[in-house]
Amino acid sequence: MTQTIDERQQKVQGYKARFAERGVKHFIGGQWVDSRNGETFETLSPIDGSLIATVASGNEADIDRAAAAAKAAFPEWRDMGGAERKKLLHKVADLIEARADEIAHLETLDTGQAIRFMKSAAARGAENFRFFADRATEAQDGSSLPTKGFLNYTIRQPIGPVGVITPWNTPFMLSTWKIAPALAAGCTVVHKPAEWSPVTAALLAEIMDEAGVPKGVVNLVHGYGETAGKALTEHPDIKAIAFVGETTTGSHIMRQGADSLKRVHFELGGKNPVVVFADADLEKALDAVVFMIYSLNGERCTSSSRVLVEAAVYDEFTAQIAERARNIKVGDPFDPSTEVGPLVHPKHTQKVTSYFDLAKAEGATIAAGGTFDGNFVPPTLFTHARNDMRIAQEEIFGPVLTAIPFENEQEALEIANGVRYGLAAYLWTSDVTRAHTFAHRLEAGMVWVNSENVRHLPTPFGGVKNSGIGRDGGDYSFDFYMETKNIAVSLGTHKTARLGVGQAQPARDAVDKKLAE
Ligand code: NAD
Repeated sequence: MTQTIDERQQKVQGYKARFAERGVKHFIGGQWVDSRNGETFETLSPIDGSLIATVASGNEADIDRAAAAAKAAFPEWRDMGGAERKKLLHKVADLIEARADEIAHLETLDTGQAIRFMKSAAARGAENFRFFADRATEAQDGSSLPTKGFLNYTIRQPIGPVGVITPWNTPFMLSTWKIAPALAAGCTVVHKPAEWSPVTAALLAEIMDEAGVPKGVVNLVHGYGETAGKALTEHPDIKAIAFVGETTTGSHIMRQGADSLKRVHFELGGKNPVVVFADADLEKALDAVVFMIYSLNGERCTSSSRVLVEAAVYDEFTAQIAERARNIKVGDPFDPSTEVGPLVHPKHTQKVTSYFDLAKAEGATIAAGGTFDGNFVPPTLFTHARNDMRIAQEEIFGPVLTAIPFENEQEALEIANGVRYGLAAYLWTSDVTRAHTFAHRLEAGMVWVNSENVRHLPTPFGGVKNSGIGRDGGDYSFDFYMETKNIAVSLGTHKTARLGVGQAQPARDAVDKKLAE
């Protein structure tokens, strides 16, 4: 049943009402609390700049309180059986599913992402919990490495309280992607969500509490990166930081965590190439290229923001992208037919649109878009670009695609690899040998051949070069949130070298002999 605009607005008002009234608070040790110093900031909707809610703005004292709660809750959570944890995490997934509509609407209100995508993002949040819930029972499993006289075996143990720091683009889904494996592993968590879209983090905390996750196991502290985020990365009781965000922030976190030797996991920026050879199924390639840059407002780490097209088909292929880009529906993100909503924040809009003048100054052509109204930025395509231009090198993180022609495989590879990033790469060709050899030589953590980004949760997710450190997914996540311990048990047959006996006796005999002479 389709809703009228009034019905849609009423629904959103209903969902936002309690946050508007009470504000968005921290969740520490099972209590909803204000900042110690009472500071707050406002979260505004990128749709029209209206106030959604005031949000508690945390600093060192609040992080300290949250870290203490996570530390106190750790032993019991660590020692809880995997089967019990599994049950709890499935309950979280059930509740996410039950409240998926509310999550999707509040996410759209806070981020500007189109509701059609946020509905599936909420479902994916539930899937993340289910996936790791099912693995909670085997998280501690190790391997047996017997040798002569010994049985070596390994076990995995949760590392301790961990910090999770998330960005603003699809905050709910990304938070679940980090928090679910941490909890399944037996870690307790302090979560610091992004200041531009904090609302659904509160929903997630509420849901976990309702599901029966014990108090202190998950804590939420809102605030700015330079205050709350920094304090979290420096806290001595926080054993590891799982971070998703910009590459430069990753560098800051590494420095901040150095004194406490923090273990870090980084999912950072990208400037992901999609390489289209003339022998590819160009119709399918077109669908995938358009989807991977213009869905989620282009605010997506795995977006294919550079399209590299073989020269023979470049003009026609880019003309088709431009036509599709012009047809994409930009507008009210709550309208189910909208494909691109407003960008998250006026500052981000300013950054994204600053590349329009730059593109012209660098000698590229704006073949579609290149305008904006408020935070609404229509899909934009730059053609006739070279890889050394800033529009081809820098992560724009909006609905903006840079198209570059190439003559042959070698040139395509040099362009694809010629950026500081290496998160994802996409490759379109019908030549099976080329598909494999080219994929092997691409500098990226993940390569999709003849496909857009289709996730399978057990596969490793992460980047190389400046796009990240470490992998998530399946067992890879447990490797980060857990320590592997080796236990060597002697079977009683090995010989220990003896000191303080043996050699000493003849030496003493020689001394006695000397004295007797
Ligand atoms: P950001 O780095 O500005 O902020 C991310 C988080 O870090 C926020 O919560 C912020 O408050 C916090 N932060 C900022 N400075 C900090 C500091 N000094 N210490 C501790 N925390 C600090 O990123 P953003 O603008 O929110 O998100 C967009 C970026 O995220 C893009 O670069 C995008 O590619 C990246 N991203 C990567 C992935 C991935 O999986 N690789 C996924 C989504 C987004």
